[in-house]
Amino acid sequence: MSAAKHSQAMHFQARAGKEVRNAVLQRALQKAKPLFVGKRAKGIAALSEDKLEFEALRTACEDIRNRVLTDLDVWLAIFEERARASGAEVLWARDGDEICRHVVDVARQHGVTKATKSKSMLSEEARLNEALAAAGIRPVETDLGEYIVQLAGETPSHIIAPAVHKTIGDVEALFAKEHGRPVETRTSADIPAMAREAREVLRQHFLSAEMGISGANFLIAETGTAALVTNEGNGRMVTTLPKVHVVITGIEKIVPTLEDFATLMRLLPRSATGQSISNYVSLLTGTKQPGDSDGPEKTVFILVDNGRANLLGSAYQDMLRCIRCGACMNHCPVYFSLGGHAYGWVYPGPMGSVLTPLYTGIENALDLPHASTGCNQCGSVCPVRIPLPKLMHRLREEQVERGLRPWSESFGLKAWALVAGKPALYRWVMRRAARYLNWLADGSGSIRIFGLAPGWTAGRDLPVSSGKTFHELYAARKRA
Ligand code: SF4
Repeated sequence: MSAAKHSQAMHFQARAGKEVRNAVLQRALQKAKPLFVGKRAKGIAALSEDKLEFEALRTACEDIRNRVLTDLDVWLAIFEERARASGAEVLWARDGDEICRHVVDVARQHGVTKATKSKSMLSEEARLNEALAAAGIRPVETDLGEYIVQLAGETPSHIIAPAVHKTIGDVEALFAKEHGRPVETRTSADIPAMAREAREVLRQHFLSAEMGISGANFLIAETGTAALVTNEGNGRMVTTLPKVHVVITGIEKIVPTLEDFATLMRLLPRSATGQSISNYVSLLTGTKQPGDSDGPEKTVFILVDNGRANLLGSAYQDMLRCIRCGACMNHCPVYFSLGGHAYGWVYPGPMGSVLTPLYTGIENALDLPHASTGCNQCGSVCPVRIPLPKLMHRLREEQVERGLRPWSESFGLKAWALVAGKPALYRWVMRRAARYLNWLADGSGSIRIFGLAPGWTAGRDLPVSSGKTFHELYAARKRA
């Protein structure tokens, strides 16, 4: 699995331990979470005022995505035919290496020395920037968050807010260094000035790049169109100014019709940023035609598998409905304790805890399906009703079936299943355990260090009961 080469997901625990102690990161996350949650809540509430039922819309979106997945090959064939008919070239890529090869080939054919990029998580899967740089082509990220992350030599930590882990001070220092000026003291009031500064630099790149590279939020089969949804307008500069436009997108991103796209757009921006519609919604079909004032002379679609086809017909097919809105991570207590880099690969949060093991190998991301409190916040906000906690449970089961868990954990779970399945034995064991824990606490009500849960008591005390089980207390209450 080529995607596994660059994944650090196996080091999740160590990375998470580092991130929870990172005070700057924790400050940035604490500031961002209420914004994400509040904006989405307002966006969804506004839907109900319009008398449009959020749940009915979710069902419609879920149905569209399921309909596509049932006949994915058919919709892809229709898309390919319509895209070619409108003058675009369609290429297919099995994995990240093949994406890089295609893009570099196209760039060489057209003498490209610089490529501007709009945000594309698939290009992160492929590590495309490294491949372009190795081929002598300069990649320039133009989404403001991606631009910041690229200047810092980092990777995105969120799928819709790549630099959410950075504070204003971080960005100011970075811009001062990279743009060659003295450092200033900036506040949130100065953010427009910083955005203007970045825009001035990026404008030169927009005007001089020979190639634009973007993802696509959706591919519309009936018209052979790529739909691109952005808030900064950089997507339009990347897709219309250079003479070559390359669209890199997963095969699952297809939707049958423009009407289906319009339905999904009712929920995508609301779930992501709370907006009723994003600032820029671009529908890109074919190449520049006579009479057009702008547009690429060459359009290439690269349709990518990279592990997606394996999920079709599997217990994980629901995951292919994902429309990359980010709502699951915005509501996840684990994500907002750690940030995105702890997850070790492209996709963080609950969707990453499912996608990373599936795309890079279950054995290469053992901790991710366990990075959940089981609160189901992610499942309840997902606009296409992906049962994320259920999929994480299934991944855990598969780890056990394949013997990938430590023997002590498997033994403990088997012992628990034996005890929990026999009520009399369960009550006897619980009585003994309650007495023992109470004795260990020595009347203090909590245990400082407990050998059976060293991870738990390393960071906090373990509260214990009064020495009586719930059954005993309940029976005593009934008697009273
Ligand atoms: S899993 Fe659902 S909530 Fe998470 S990014 Fe995908 S569509 Fe959005």
